[in-house]
Amino acid sequence: MELLNIKRLELEKKKVFIRCDFNVPMDEFGNISDDRRIRSALATINFCLDQDCAVILASHLGRPKGEVDKKYSLAPVARRLHHLLKREVVLADDVVGDDALAKIEAMKCCDILLLENLRFEVGETVNDKELSAKLADMADIYINDAFGVSHRAHASVEGITHFFDDAHKAAGFLLEKEIRFFGKLINKPVRPFAAIVGGSKVSGKLEALTNLLPKVDKIFIGGGMAFTFLKQMGYNIGASLVEDDLLEDAQDVMDEAKKLGVKLYLPVDVIAADKFSEDAVSKIVTAQEIPDAWMGLDIGPATVRLYREGLSDVQTVLWNGPMGVYEMEKFARGSSKIAHFVADSYATTVVGGGDTADLVQRIGLDEEMSFISTGGGASLELLEGKILPGVASLIVPK
Ligand code: AMP
Repeated sequence: MELLNIKRLELEKKKVFIRCDFNVPMDEFGNISDDRRIRSALATINFCLDQDCAVILASHLGRPKGEVDKKYSLAPVARRLHHLLKREVVLADDVVGDDALAKIEAMKCCDILLLENLRFEVGETVNDKELSAKLADMADIYINDAFGVSHRAHASVEGITHFFDDAHKAAGFLLEKEIRFFGKLINKPVRPFAAIVGGSKVSGKLEALTNLLPKVDKIFIGGGMAFTFLKQMGYNIGASLVEDDLLEDAQDVMDEAKKLGVKLYLPVDVIAADKFSEDAVSKIVTAQEIPDAWMGLDIGPATVRLYREGLSDVQTVLWNGPMGVYEMEKFARGSSKIAHFVADSYATTVVGGGDTADLVQRIGLDEEMSFISTGGGASLELLEGKILPGVASLIVPK
């Protein structure tokens, strides 16, 4: 799949609207704790600035539910952009209101304007045509560089693309890189190819699991989603996270794996806790012996050894979802051990965004991985074989 390339656009002295993904994690004081997504957008922004463009940047942050909520203001992002770009970055007070429009009107070559949080507008997440039109009206050129949100048919991601012809829109460098990377990963992985899939729920990853099965040689399951599988196998999982309505689907995944000859690994022991809390009492138990009312919050040491053994010969690893509740130090050990092992291996290691990227970054292994995607959900949908709504109209027609 070839995308409309930014380099063939006539950008000089134009107003360019760049949809970015500045949805960065923040700590309790509103400080940006990981600015990877902002840094990843710099190549496209700088490319446009080098062509003397006026650049309008737009992003969402968090889930402000269609109304102005200063907690989700992009002000910290504007400050970080200013530091990284070493140029003035003006923040509009609104998205398509009087302030944004006045500031756009006054823009000159090489000015940078950041619109306020797109999700302050109720039309953004419902792909409102009127909002798309207003956003499109701001610029001569549209560039999508927001891979992390390209699986959403939102006004600034999907709707807006229909207001520009092929000569006036393109994929940014980040979007292009992510799509190219995952395309190669799915179509020509160096084998053995293993997927490590964790996180809280089977529901969010069921389709991806099903689609990965014919492509991978091994699957290692961890995190809360493992318990739906363990329950289906007849184990007592105590009060661990479970999706009872997906027990049959879990069985289907196990059956399909068997049919295809894919080695499917499940935890053999877990760290069980008496409550969902950092100060819980915890102990290592086998997967067969989780006490009633206790919950498994991490994979145990035997599972770590087993998974390491299984991963030792793989050439490509795709990892999406933590092995436990890594946000609590007590339950981060399993994820951390697996992260170190994966990072030290000679395999091509791909981290599928979101929580897994956060986890890898927290333990300082981000530089050791071959590729860290900026989009967890988007990369999963790519692996499911879908065409992302934000990418569909940026594909070069055959
Ligand atoms: P997801 O968004 O589905 O990738 O899930 C990520 C979340 O799963 C993280 O916030 C983890 O804390 C959570 N998680 C991982 N393992 C467990 C578990 N055993 N029980 C409950 N939550 C878990």
